[in-house]
Amino acid sequence: MLQYPNLEQALKYHFGYDRFRPGQRQIIEDALQNRDLLIVMPTGGGKSLCFQLPALIKKGLTVVVSPLIALMQDQVEGLRNNNINATFLNSSLNPYKVRSREEAILSGKVRLLYVAPERLLSERFLPFLDLVKEKIGIAAFAIDEAHCVSEWGHDFRPEYRQMKSLRKRYPDVPTLALTATATDRVRADIIQQLGLKQPSIHIASFNRQNLYYEVRSKTKSAYAELLELIRENEGSAIIYCLTRKKVDELTFKLQNDKISALSYHAGLSDEERSSNQTRFIRDDVRVMVATIAFGMGINKPDVRLVIHFDLPRNLESYYQESGRAGRDSEPSRCTLFFSFSDIKTIEWSIDQKTDPQEQLIAKQQLRQVIDYAQGTVCRRTIQLGYFGERFDGNCANCDNCRYPKPMQDWTIEAMKFLSCVARCKERFGMLHIIDVLRGAKSQKIIQNEHDQLSTYGIGKDKSVDEWRMLARSLLHQGLVEQTSDGYSVLKLNPLSWEVMRRQRTVSLAVPVAQKITWEEGSEKAAEAEILMQRLRSLRKQLADEQSVPPYVVFQDSTLKVMAQVQPKTLTEFGKLSGVGSHKLSQYGDKFLTEIRAYRQEKGLIDPPQVKFTPSVSLPSDTEIVTFQLHKQGLSVNEIAKKRNIRPTTIIRHLTDLIEKNQPVDINQLVPLEHQQKIWQVLEVLGDISLTPIREQLGESYSFDEIRLVRGKWRRENRK
Ligand code: ADP
Ligand code: ZN
Repeated sequence: MLQYPNLEQALKYHFGYDRFRPGQRQIIEDALQNRDLLIVMPTGGGKSLCFQLPALIKKGLTVVVSPLIALMQDQVEGLRNNNINATFLNSSLNPYKVRSREEAILSGKVRLLYVAPERLLSERFLPFLDLVKEKIGIAAFAIDEAHCVSEWGHDFRPEYRQMKSLRKRYPDVPTLALTATATDRVRADIIQQLGLKQPSIHIASFNRQNLYYEVRSKTKSAYAELLELIRENEGSAIIYCLTRKKVDELTFKLQNDKISALSYHAGLSDEERSSNQTRFIRDDVRVMVATIAFGMGINKPDVRLVIHFDLPRNLESYYQESGRAGRDSEPSRCTLFFSFSDIKTIEWSIDQKTDPQEQLIAKQQLRQVIDYAQGTVCRRTIQLGYFGERFDGNCANCDNCRYPKPMQDWTIEAMKFLSCVARCKERFGMLHIIDVLRGAKSQKIIQNEHDQLSTYGIGKDKSVDEWRMLARSLLHQGLVEQTSDGYSVLKLNPLSWEVMRRQRTVSLAVPVAQKITWEEGSEKAAEAEILMQRLRSLRKQLADEQSVPPYVVFQDSTLKVMAQVQPKTLTEFGKLSGVGSHKLSQYGDKFLTEIRAYRQEKGLIDPPQVKFTPSVSLPSDTEIVTFQLHKQGLSVNEIAKKRNIRPTTIIRHLTDLIEKNQPVDINQLVPLEHQQKIWQVLEVLGDISLTPIREQLGESYSFDEIRLVRGKWRRENRK
């Protein structure tokens, strides 16, 4: 096992994060103890880190089983950008590539291998895995999307069933199962099917506190509101519609309104779909208008807005789809547009189902969605309740908590409604009762002679929607019942009679027109936003150079703190959350230059550096290790080899040590003559990035030398 002073330092070093998310540390400790694990965490909870960090600490190869090719590539790209040696094997590779990757694995260089389940268990692959085990060892199996193993899950994959044979073949290799969705039944199934041995089970809360949930009525101005939402919120957005036709129409409208938007649905060719998806992931296009075909296996962490322009099918899919917002834990918005006419469309499609059981389930699910949309309590309470999790409300981050709807007295209306139910002999559903109240002339009314009732036409002053709102609320409050046989016949209960006898009042939360108010920014925040834009375009440029999505370079959260903190030195830069050792050396200078340019243009003169800033001037533990080896007289390459770290990283340690006033012997590292020349250039050009300095000096000067001397120069000039 590689030794780190502690896990936090390993986290910072490899991934750049300052602290673990809830649950991660415990899981990683268990993994390091070689325990079997079952990890249930919501999307964006940070599951991957739970096997990635142990993979870097433990000896041997960690094999990750993942069902989706796109997801594999994504993760591998992200890891490589942190200088972590990961690779994948799947059907997208030719035999030649497969062979060379296998060789790399056998040489022991690769830490993480991603494979699809069908390959893992193929006759060709298992002997290879035997060889890996013999030569370099297998640290663990990590089974991603583990719910696929269960027939009770929504995503059953037969290939996952054979995974148990893996357990038989390698009984002593610990197995981690990870999933974002698992009911009790699926959990038990995962443990049994994968043959987990006394697994340590971690179930995280499904509450995603960074997501703002809201429901709006889909009125005539819905499109205008949608447009406003897109314009007022920064960042990527997904808009879900029910049908392909609606997707195409909406995309067209948005494009006309100068919004960068593309479509995604099953009607497009494979090439179009995958090209649109890539453009979305790479931030070449901002808005994806899609059917629910879009999103599975997409790992984009910086989606800021998910809008359901049509009603979702059920609460579980709503949670999953809206949950594609804000996987990076940054504030994001989930908006659902709700209309009664959507309900009719869905009801119609439910009626087309032939299996009565299926119909019943679909109706029940629709009712739950409607309850959610119409509910006046905290949206989180309803959602989490659906997953069996208790949540006390007052989340302060949903529309109902932030803008409680004013209550109005609707006792008279409730009395009218309930007595109409009574007059109709408790044999009809909500719509019919409303028809009677509003004096409609439908055939059903004439046939049943309901136009003769005393309640006929006494409710013309309220619209159908208003009556529905009342009826739903009565149901919610338990003041009337509804049969669950699929006919939804309204039935009175003792509370209904209390209302009719005027022993109980009825109040109703009345929706108010909502304004978009996304935390009003201060002037300072606006300034940071300007810098943020520049950092974003630098990030995009760097990402395009490597053909990776921008978030692989730095996540939004990292850019944000960068814009706020505005670091001036590499040391400060390295402290930012999201900047690990590799990214620091790869991108640090470029971003510092951009920040400096911005500050100069703004006329912001940097105050003289405070000499004693403990957070800056204390060497980190890994630097201390390097320092000790340096003092023993080892060269940079020797230290690098000994520590199994890249030489550039050692140089960076030494530079930082110099900046931190540690007695590094620079003469051991840079010839005196070079030192003097570099010093001269620094005196002229000042503290700028390495490239222009090197341009002045010429090819015979290495970046490493310049970096080291610049460290000393910085130290001297700070005094
Ligand atoms: P999941 O697989 O659970 O959906 P991921 O593993 O993709 O989630 O993680 C979601 C996001 O959170 C990723 O962008 C990841 O880099 C980030 N992340 C994970 N752990 C941490 C942490 N400790 N601190 C900050 N960000 C983290
Ligand atoms: Zn709430």
